[in-house]
Amino acid sequence: MKKMQEKILAEGKILPGGVLKVGSFLNQQIDTKFMKEIGQEIAELFKDDEVSKILTIESSGIPIAVSAGFAMEVPVVYAKKNRSSNISGDVYCTSVHSFTHGNNNNVLVGKEFISSDERILIVDDFLAHGSALTGLIDIVEQAGATVVGCVAAIEKGFQLGGDKLRNDGYRIESLAIIEEMTDSEIIFREDQN
Ligand code: 5GP
Repeated sequence: MKKMQEKILAEGKILPGGVLKVGSFLNQQIDTKFMKEIGQEIAELFKDDEVSKILTIESSGIPIAVSAGFAMEVPVVYAKKNRSSNISGDVYCTSVHSFTHGNNNNVLVGKEFISSDERILIVDDFLAHGSALTGLIDIVEQAGATVVGCVAAIEKGFQLGGDKLRNDGYRIESLAIIEEMTDSEIIFREDQN
């Protein structure tokens, strides 16, 4: 998505450790007009895939998932993070390592929200090492439902999570793939339009 690349170049801030801040349009302040376009782009990518529900993870994935949910007219479920190891109740649970916070979270989805006949599209803001998407895939597969694919607004290709998931056979779409990021420069993957 050309406009995602343009927004990253215009407004993204590169932090040490390979972290990109996009607080002005995606993470803290939300550019609602652009968010609407993101949802429409995701809907277009998966228009032939009979998606029945979108799954994301709190908190930064939620606006993107909701925008796509509006465009596709399907419900959105978000997984909740819970640091306690004492999990009870009727939930699917998996462990996800947080790249930005350097800790592990249990990630929970109530069993009532995903059934085995569903076709789930997984959405998140960033794809880095792939831990968040791998955890969400695990939850969908625990439910016996189908993972139609995953979408990240921004993939950091140099952290390799996306390519690992593609090699595992999952359809991974990213609206922008950053191939290289130095202190002063961002280079996108060439085969991106
Ligand atoms: P992964 O699990 O793929 O290593 O990392 C993805 C998760 O970490 C996303 O849910 C996102 O919230 C966070 N994340 C990873 N890299 C970045 C980054 O460069 N910037 C921001 N804002 N979040 C990131």
